[in-house]
This record gives sequence, C-alpha cells and structure tokens, in this order.
Amino acid sequence: MNRIDTYKHKGQRQQMVDDLRRRGINDERVLKAMNEVPRHWFMDSALDSSAYLDKAFPIGCEQTISHPSTVAMQSQLLDVAPDMKVLEIGTGSGYQTAVLCRMGAKVFTIERQKGLFDKTRKLLKELRITARCFLGDGYQGLTEADYGPFDRIIVTCGAPEIPSALMAQLKVGGIMVIPLGDEQHEMLRISKNGKKEEDWQVEKFGTYSFVPMLDGRQMH
Ligand code: SAH
Repeated sequence: MNRIDTYKHKGQRQQMVDDLRRRGINDERVLKAMNEVPRHWFMDSALDSSAYLDKAFPIGCEQTISHPSTVAMQSQLLDVAPDMKVLEIGTGSGYQTAVLCRMGAKVFTIERQKGLFDKTRKLLKELRITARCFLGDGYQGLTEADYGPFDRIIVTCGAPEIPSALMAQLKVGGIMVIPLGDEQHEMLRISKNGKKEEDWQVEKFGTYSFVPMLDGRQMH
C-alpha cells in the first residue's frame, strides 16, 4: 500500500480543488477536507498518477470510487457541521467516508460487499480514520438505538426508491442526500422538516451516474 503523499500529489490535489471551486463548489469546509485527504490512498497504486482527475475508477467487486466532483457535490449538499452523526450507505473505497470524517462528522458507514468492507475497514483503521464500519444492507440502515437517529444520511449508490427505513432513522430537521433513479440518477436533497411525508422538502440537483444500490438479499 502506497502511503506517500508527494509534492506532486499535493499539487495535483490543489488543482483538483481549484477546479471544483470553478465548477461552483463553494463550501470551504468541503474544499479544505478534499485538499487534505489524499484520494490516491483510496485507489489501486497502479492508478496513482490519475487519482486527481475528475473520474471514477474501479475499486474491485465491480464497484467504483465516485468522481471528486460528485463527492464534493454530495458533501456540500449534506451541509455537515462538526460532531454531527452521519450515516453513509455504500462505503466502497472509503474516500467519501474520509472526507466526511475530516469535516469533523461522526461517520457510520454501511457496505454490502464483504470484500470491500474488509479491505476498507482495514485501510481506514490504518489511516486512523475513526468511522464505524458495518457490513450490511443499506436499505435497512442501522436499527440499533445506540447509533441513530442521524443528523445526515448520504447514499453513495443509485437508489431505485427512497428507502423508508432510512427516512425513519433521519432526525427531524435532518437532511438526506440520495441519487434516485434506475439508470441515470437524479441528485436529491430531502429536508425532513417534520415527521410526516408531506413535511419533507425535496430539491433536485442534476443528473449523475452511480453504481446501483442493490437489495441486501443478494448479499455476497
Ligand atoms: N462512497 C464510495 C462510493 C462507492 S460506490 C466511495 O467514495 O468510494 C457505492 C458502493 O455502494 C459500492 O461499494 C456498493 O457495493 C455499495 N452498495 C450498493 N448497494 C448497497 C446496499 N444496499 N447497502 C450498502 N452498500 C451498498
């Protein structure tokens, strides 16, 4: 595992952040965190020189690390403040997890693929990133009372529907960011302004392409 963070990496990362700023990301907390987290540590070392391009790359188990612009957009929409409890669905490479931790959030993250779960939990531990990792089905969220309810929920796979269990685990006043759809995904920010569905405010932020959120019954 290549844990070196060279001047070249740092320069490329600064350039990535400058590009994100030009493209409308203006939350300084997000830009700072993305400038501080070495994305190349969360990717195969063979891809080291491409790590700061705005591209998704394979991370094994047919999954991909999200584009930096997608991570930036989702993190900005989430409007995270330090010490908030954030539930992430789709740990994948752990990069989005690391960015949220760097922003000071208390992150709980769920992955359904055992191979990725094992690999990423180990990596986060080695990097001393203190997210709590769970192997399971994101549709169910985290049912144990000592974890939820959450201030924020971020779904990093494309969901065919809004999982009702997740909305139930979101605090009133909380925000969920979720890409919704079958092939193309519309980025939604749902503000849970009350317990009842009619009090939820839904805003749309453009079309993205994610790996699908799969049913937990097909776990492997
Ligand atoms: N946040 C990740 C994105 C990885 S891609 C990153 O920054 O790298 C999305 C991930 O969601 C994949 O790892 C996939 O296995 C996972 N996933 C898909 N359906 C899921 C489900 N029902 N529960 C939990 N994770 C799921």
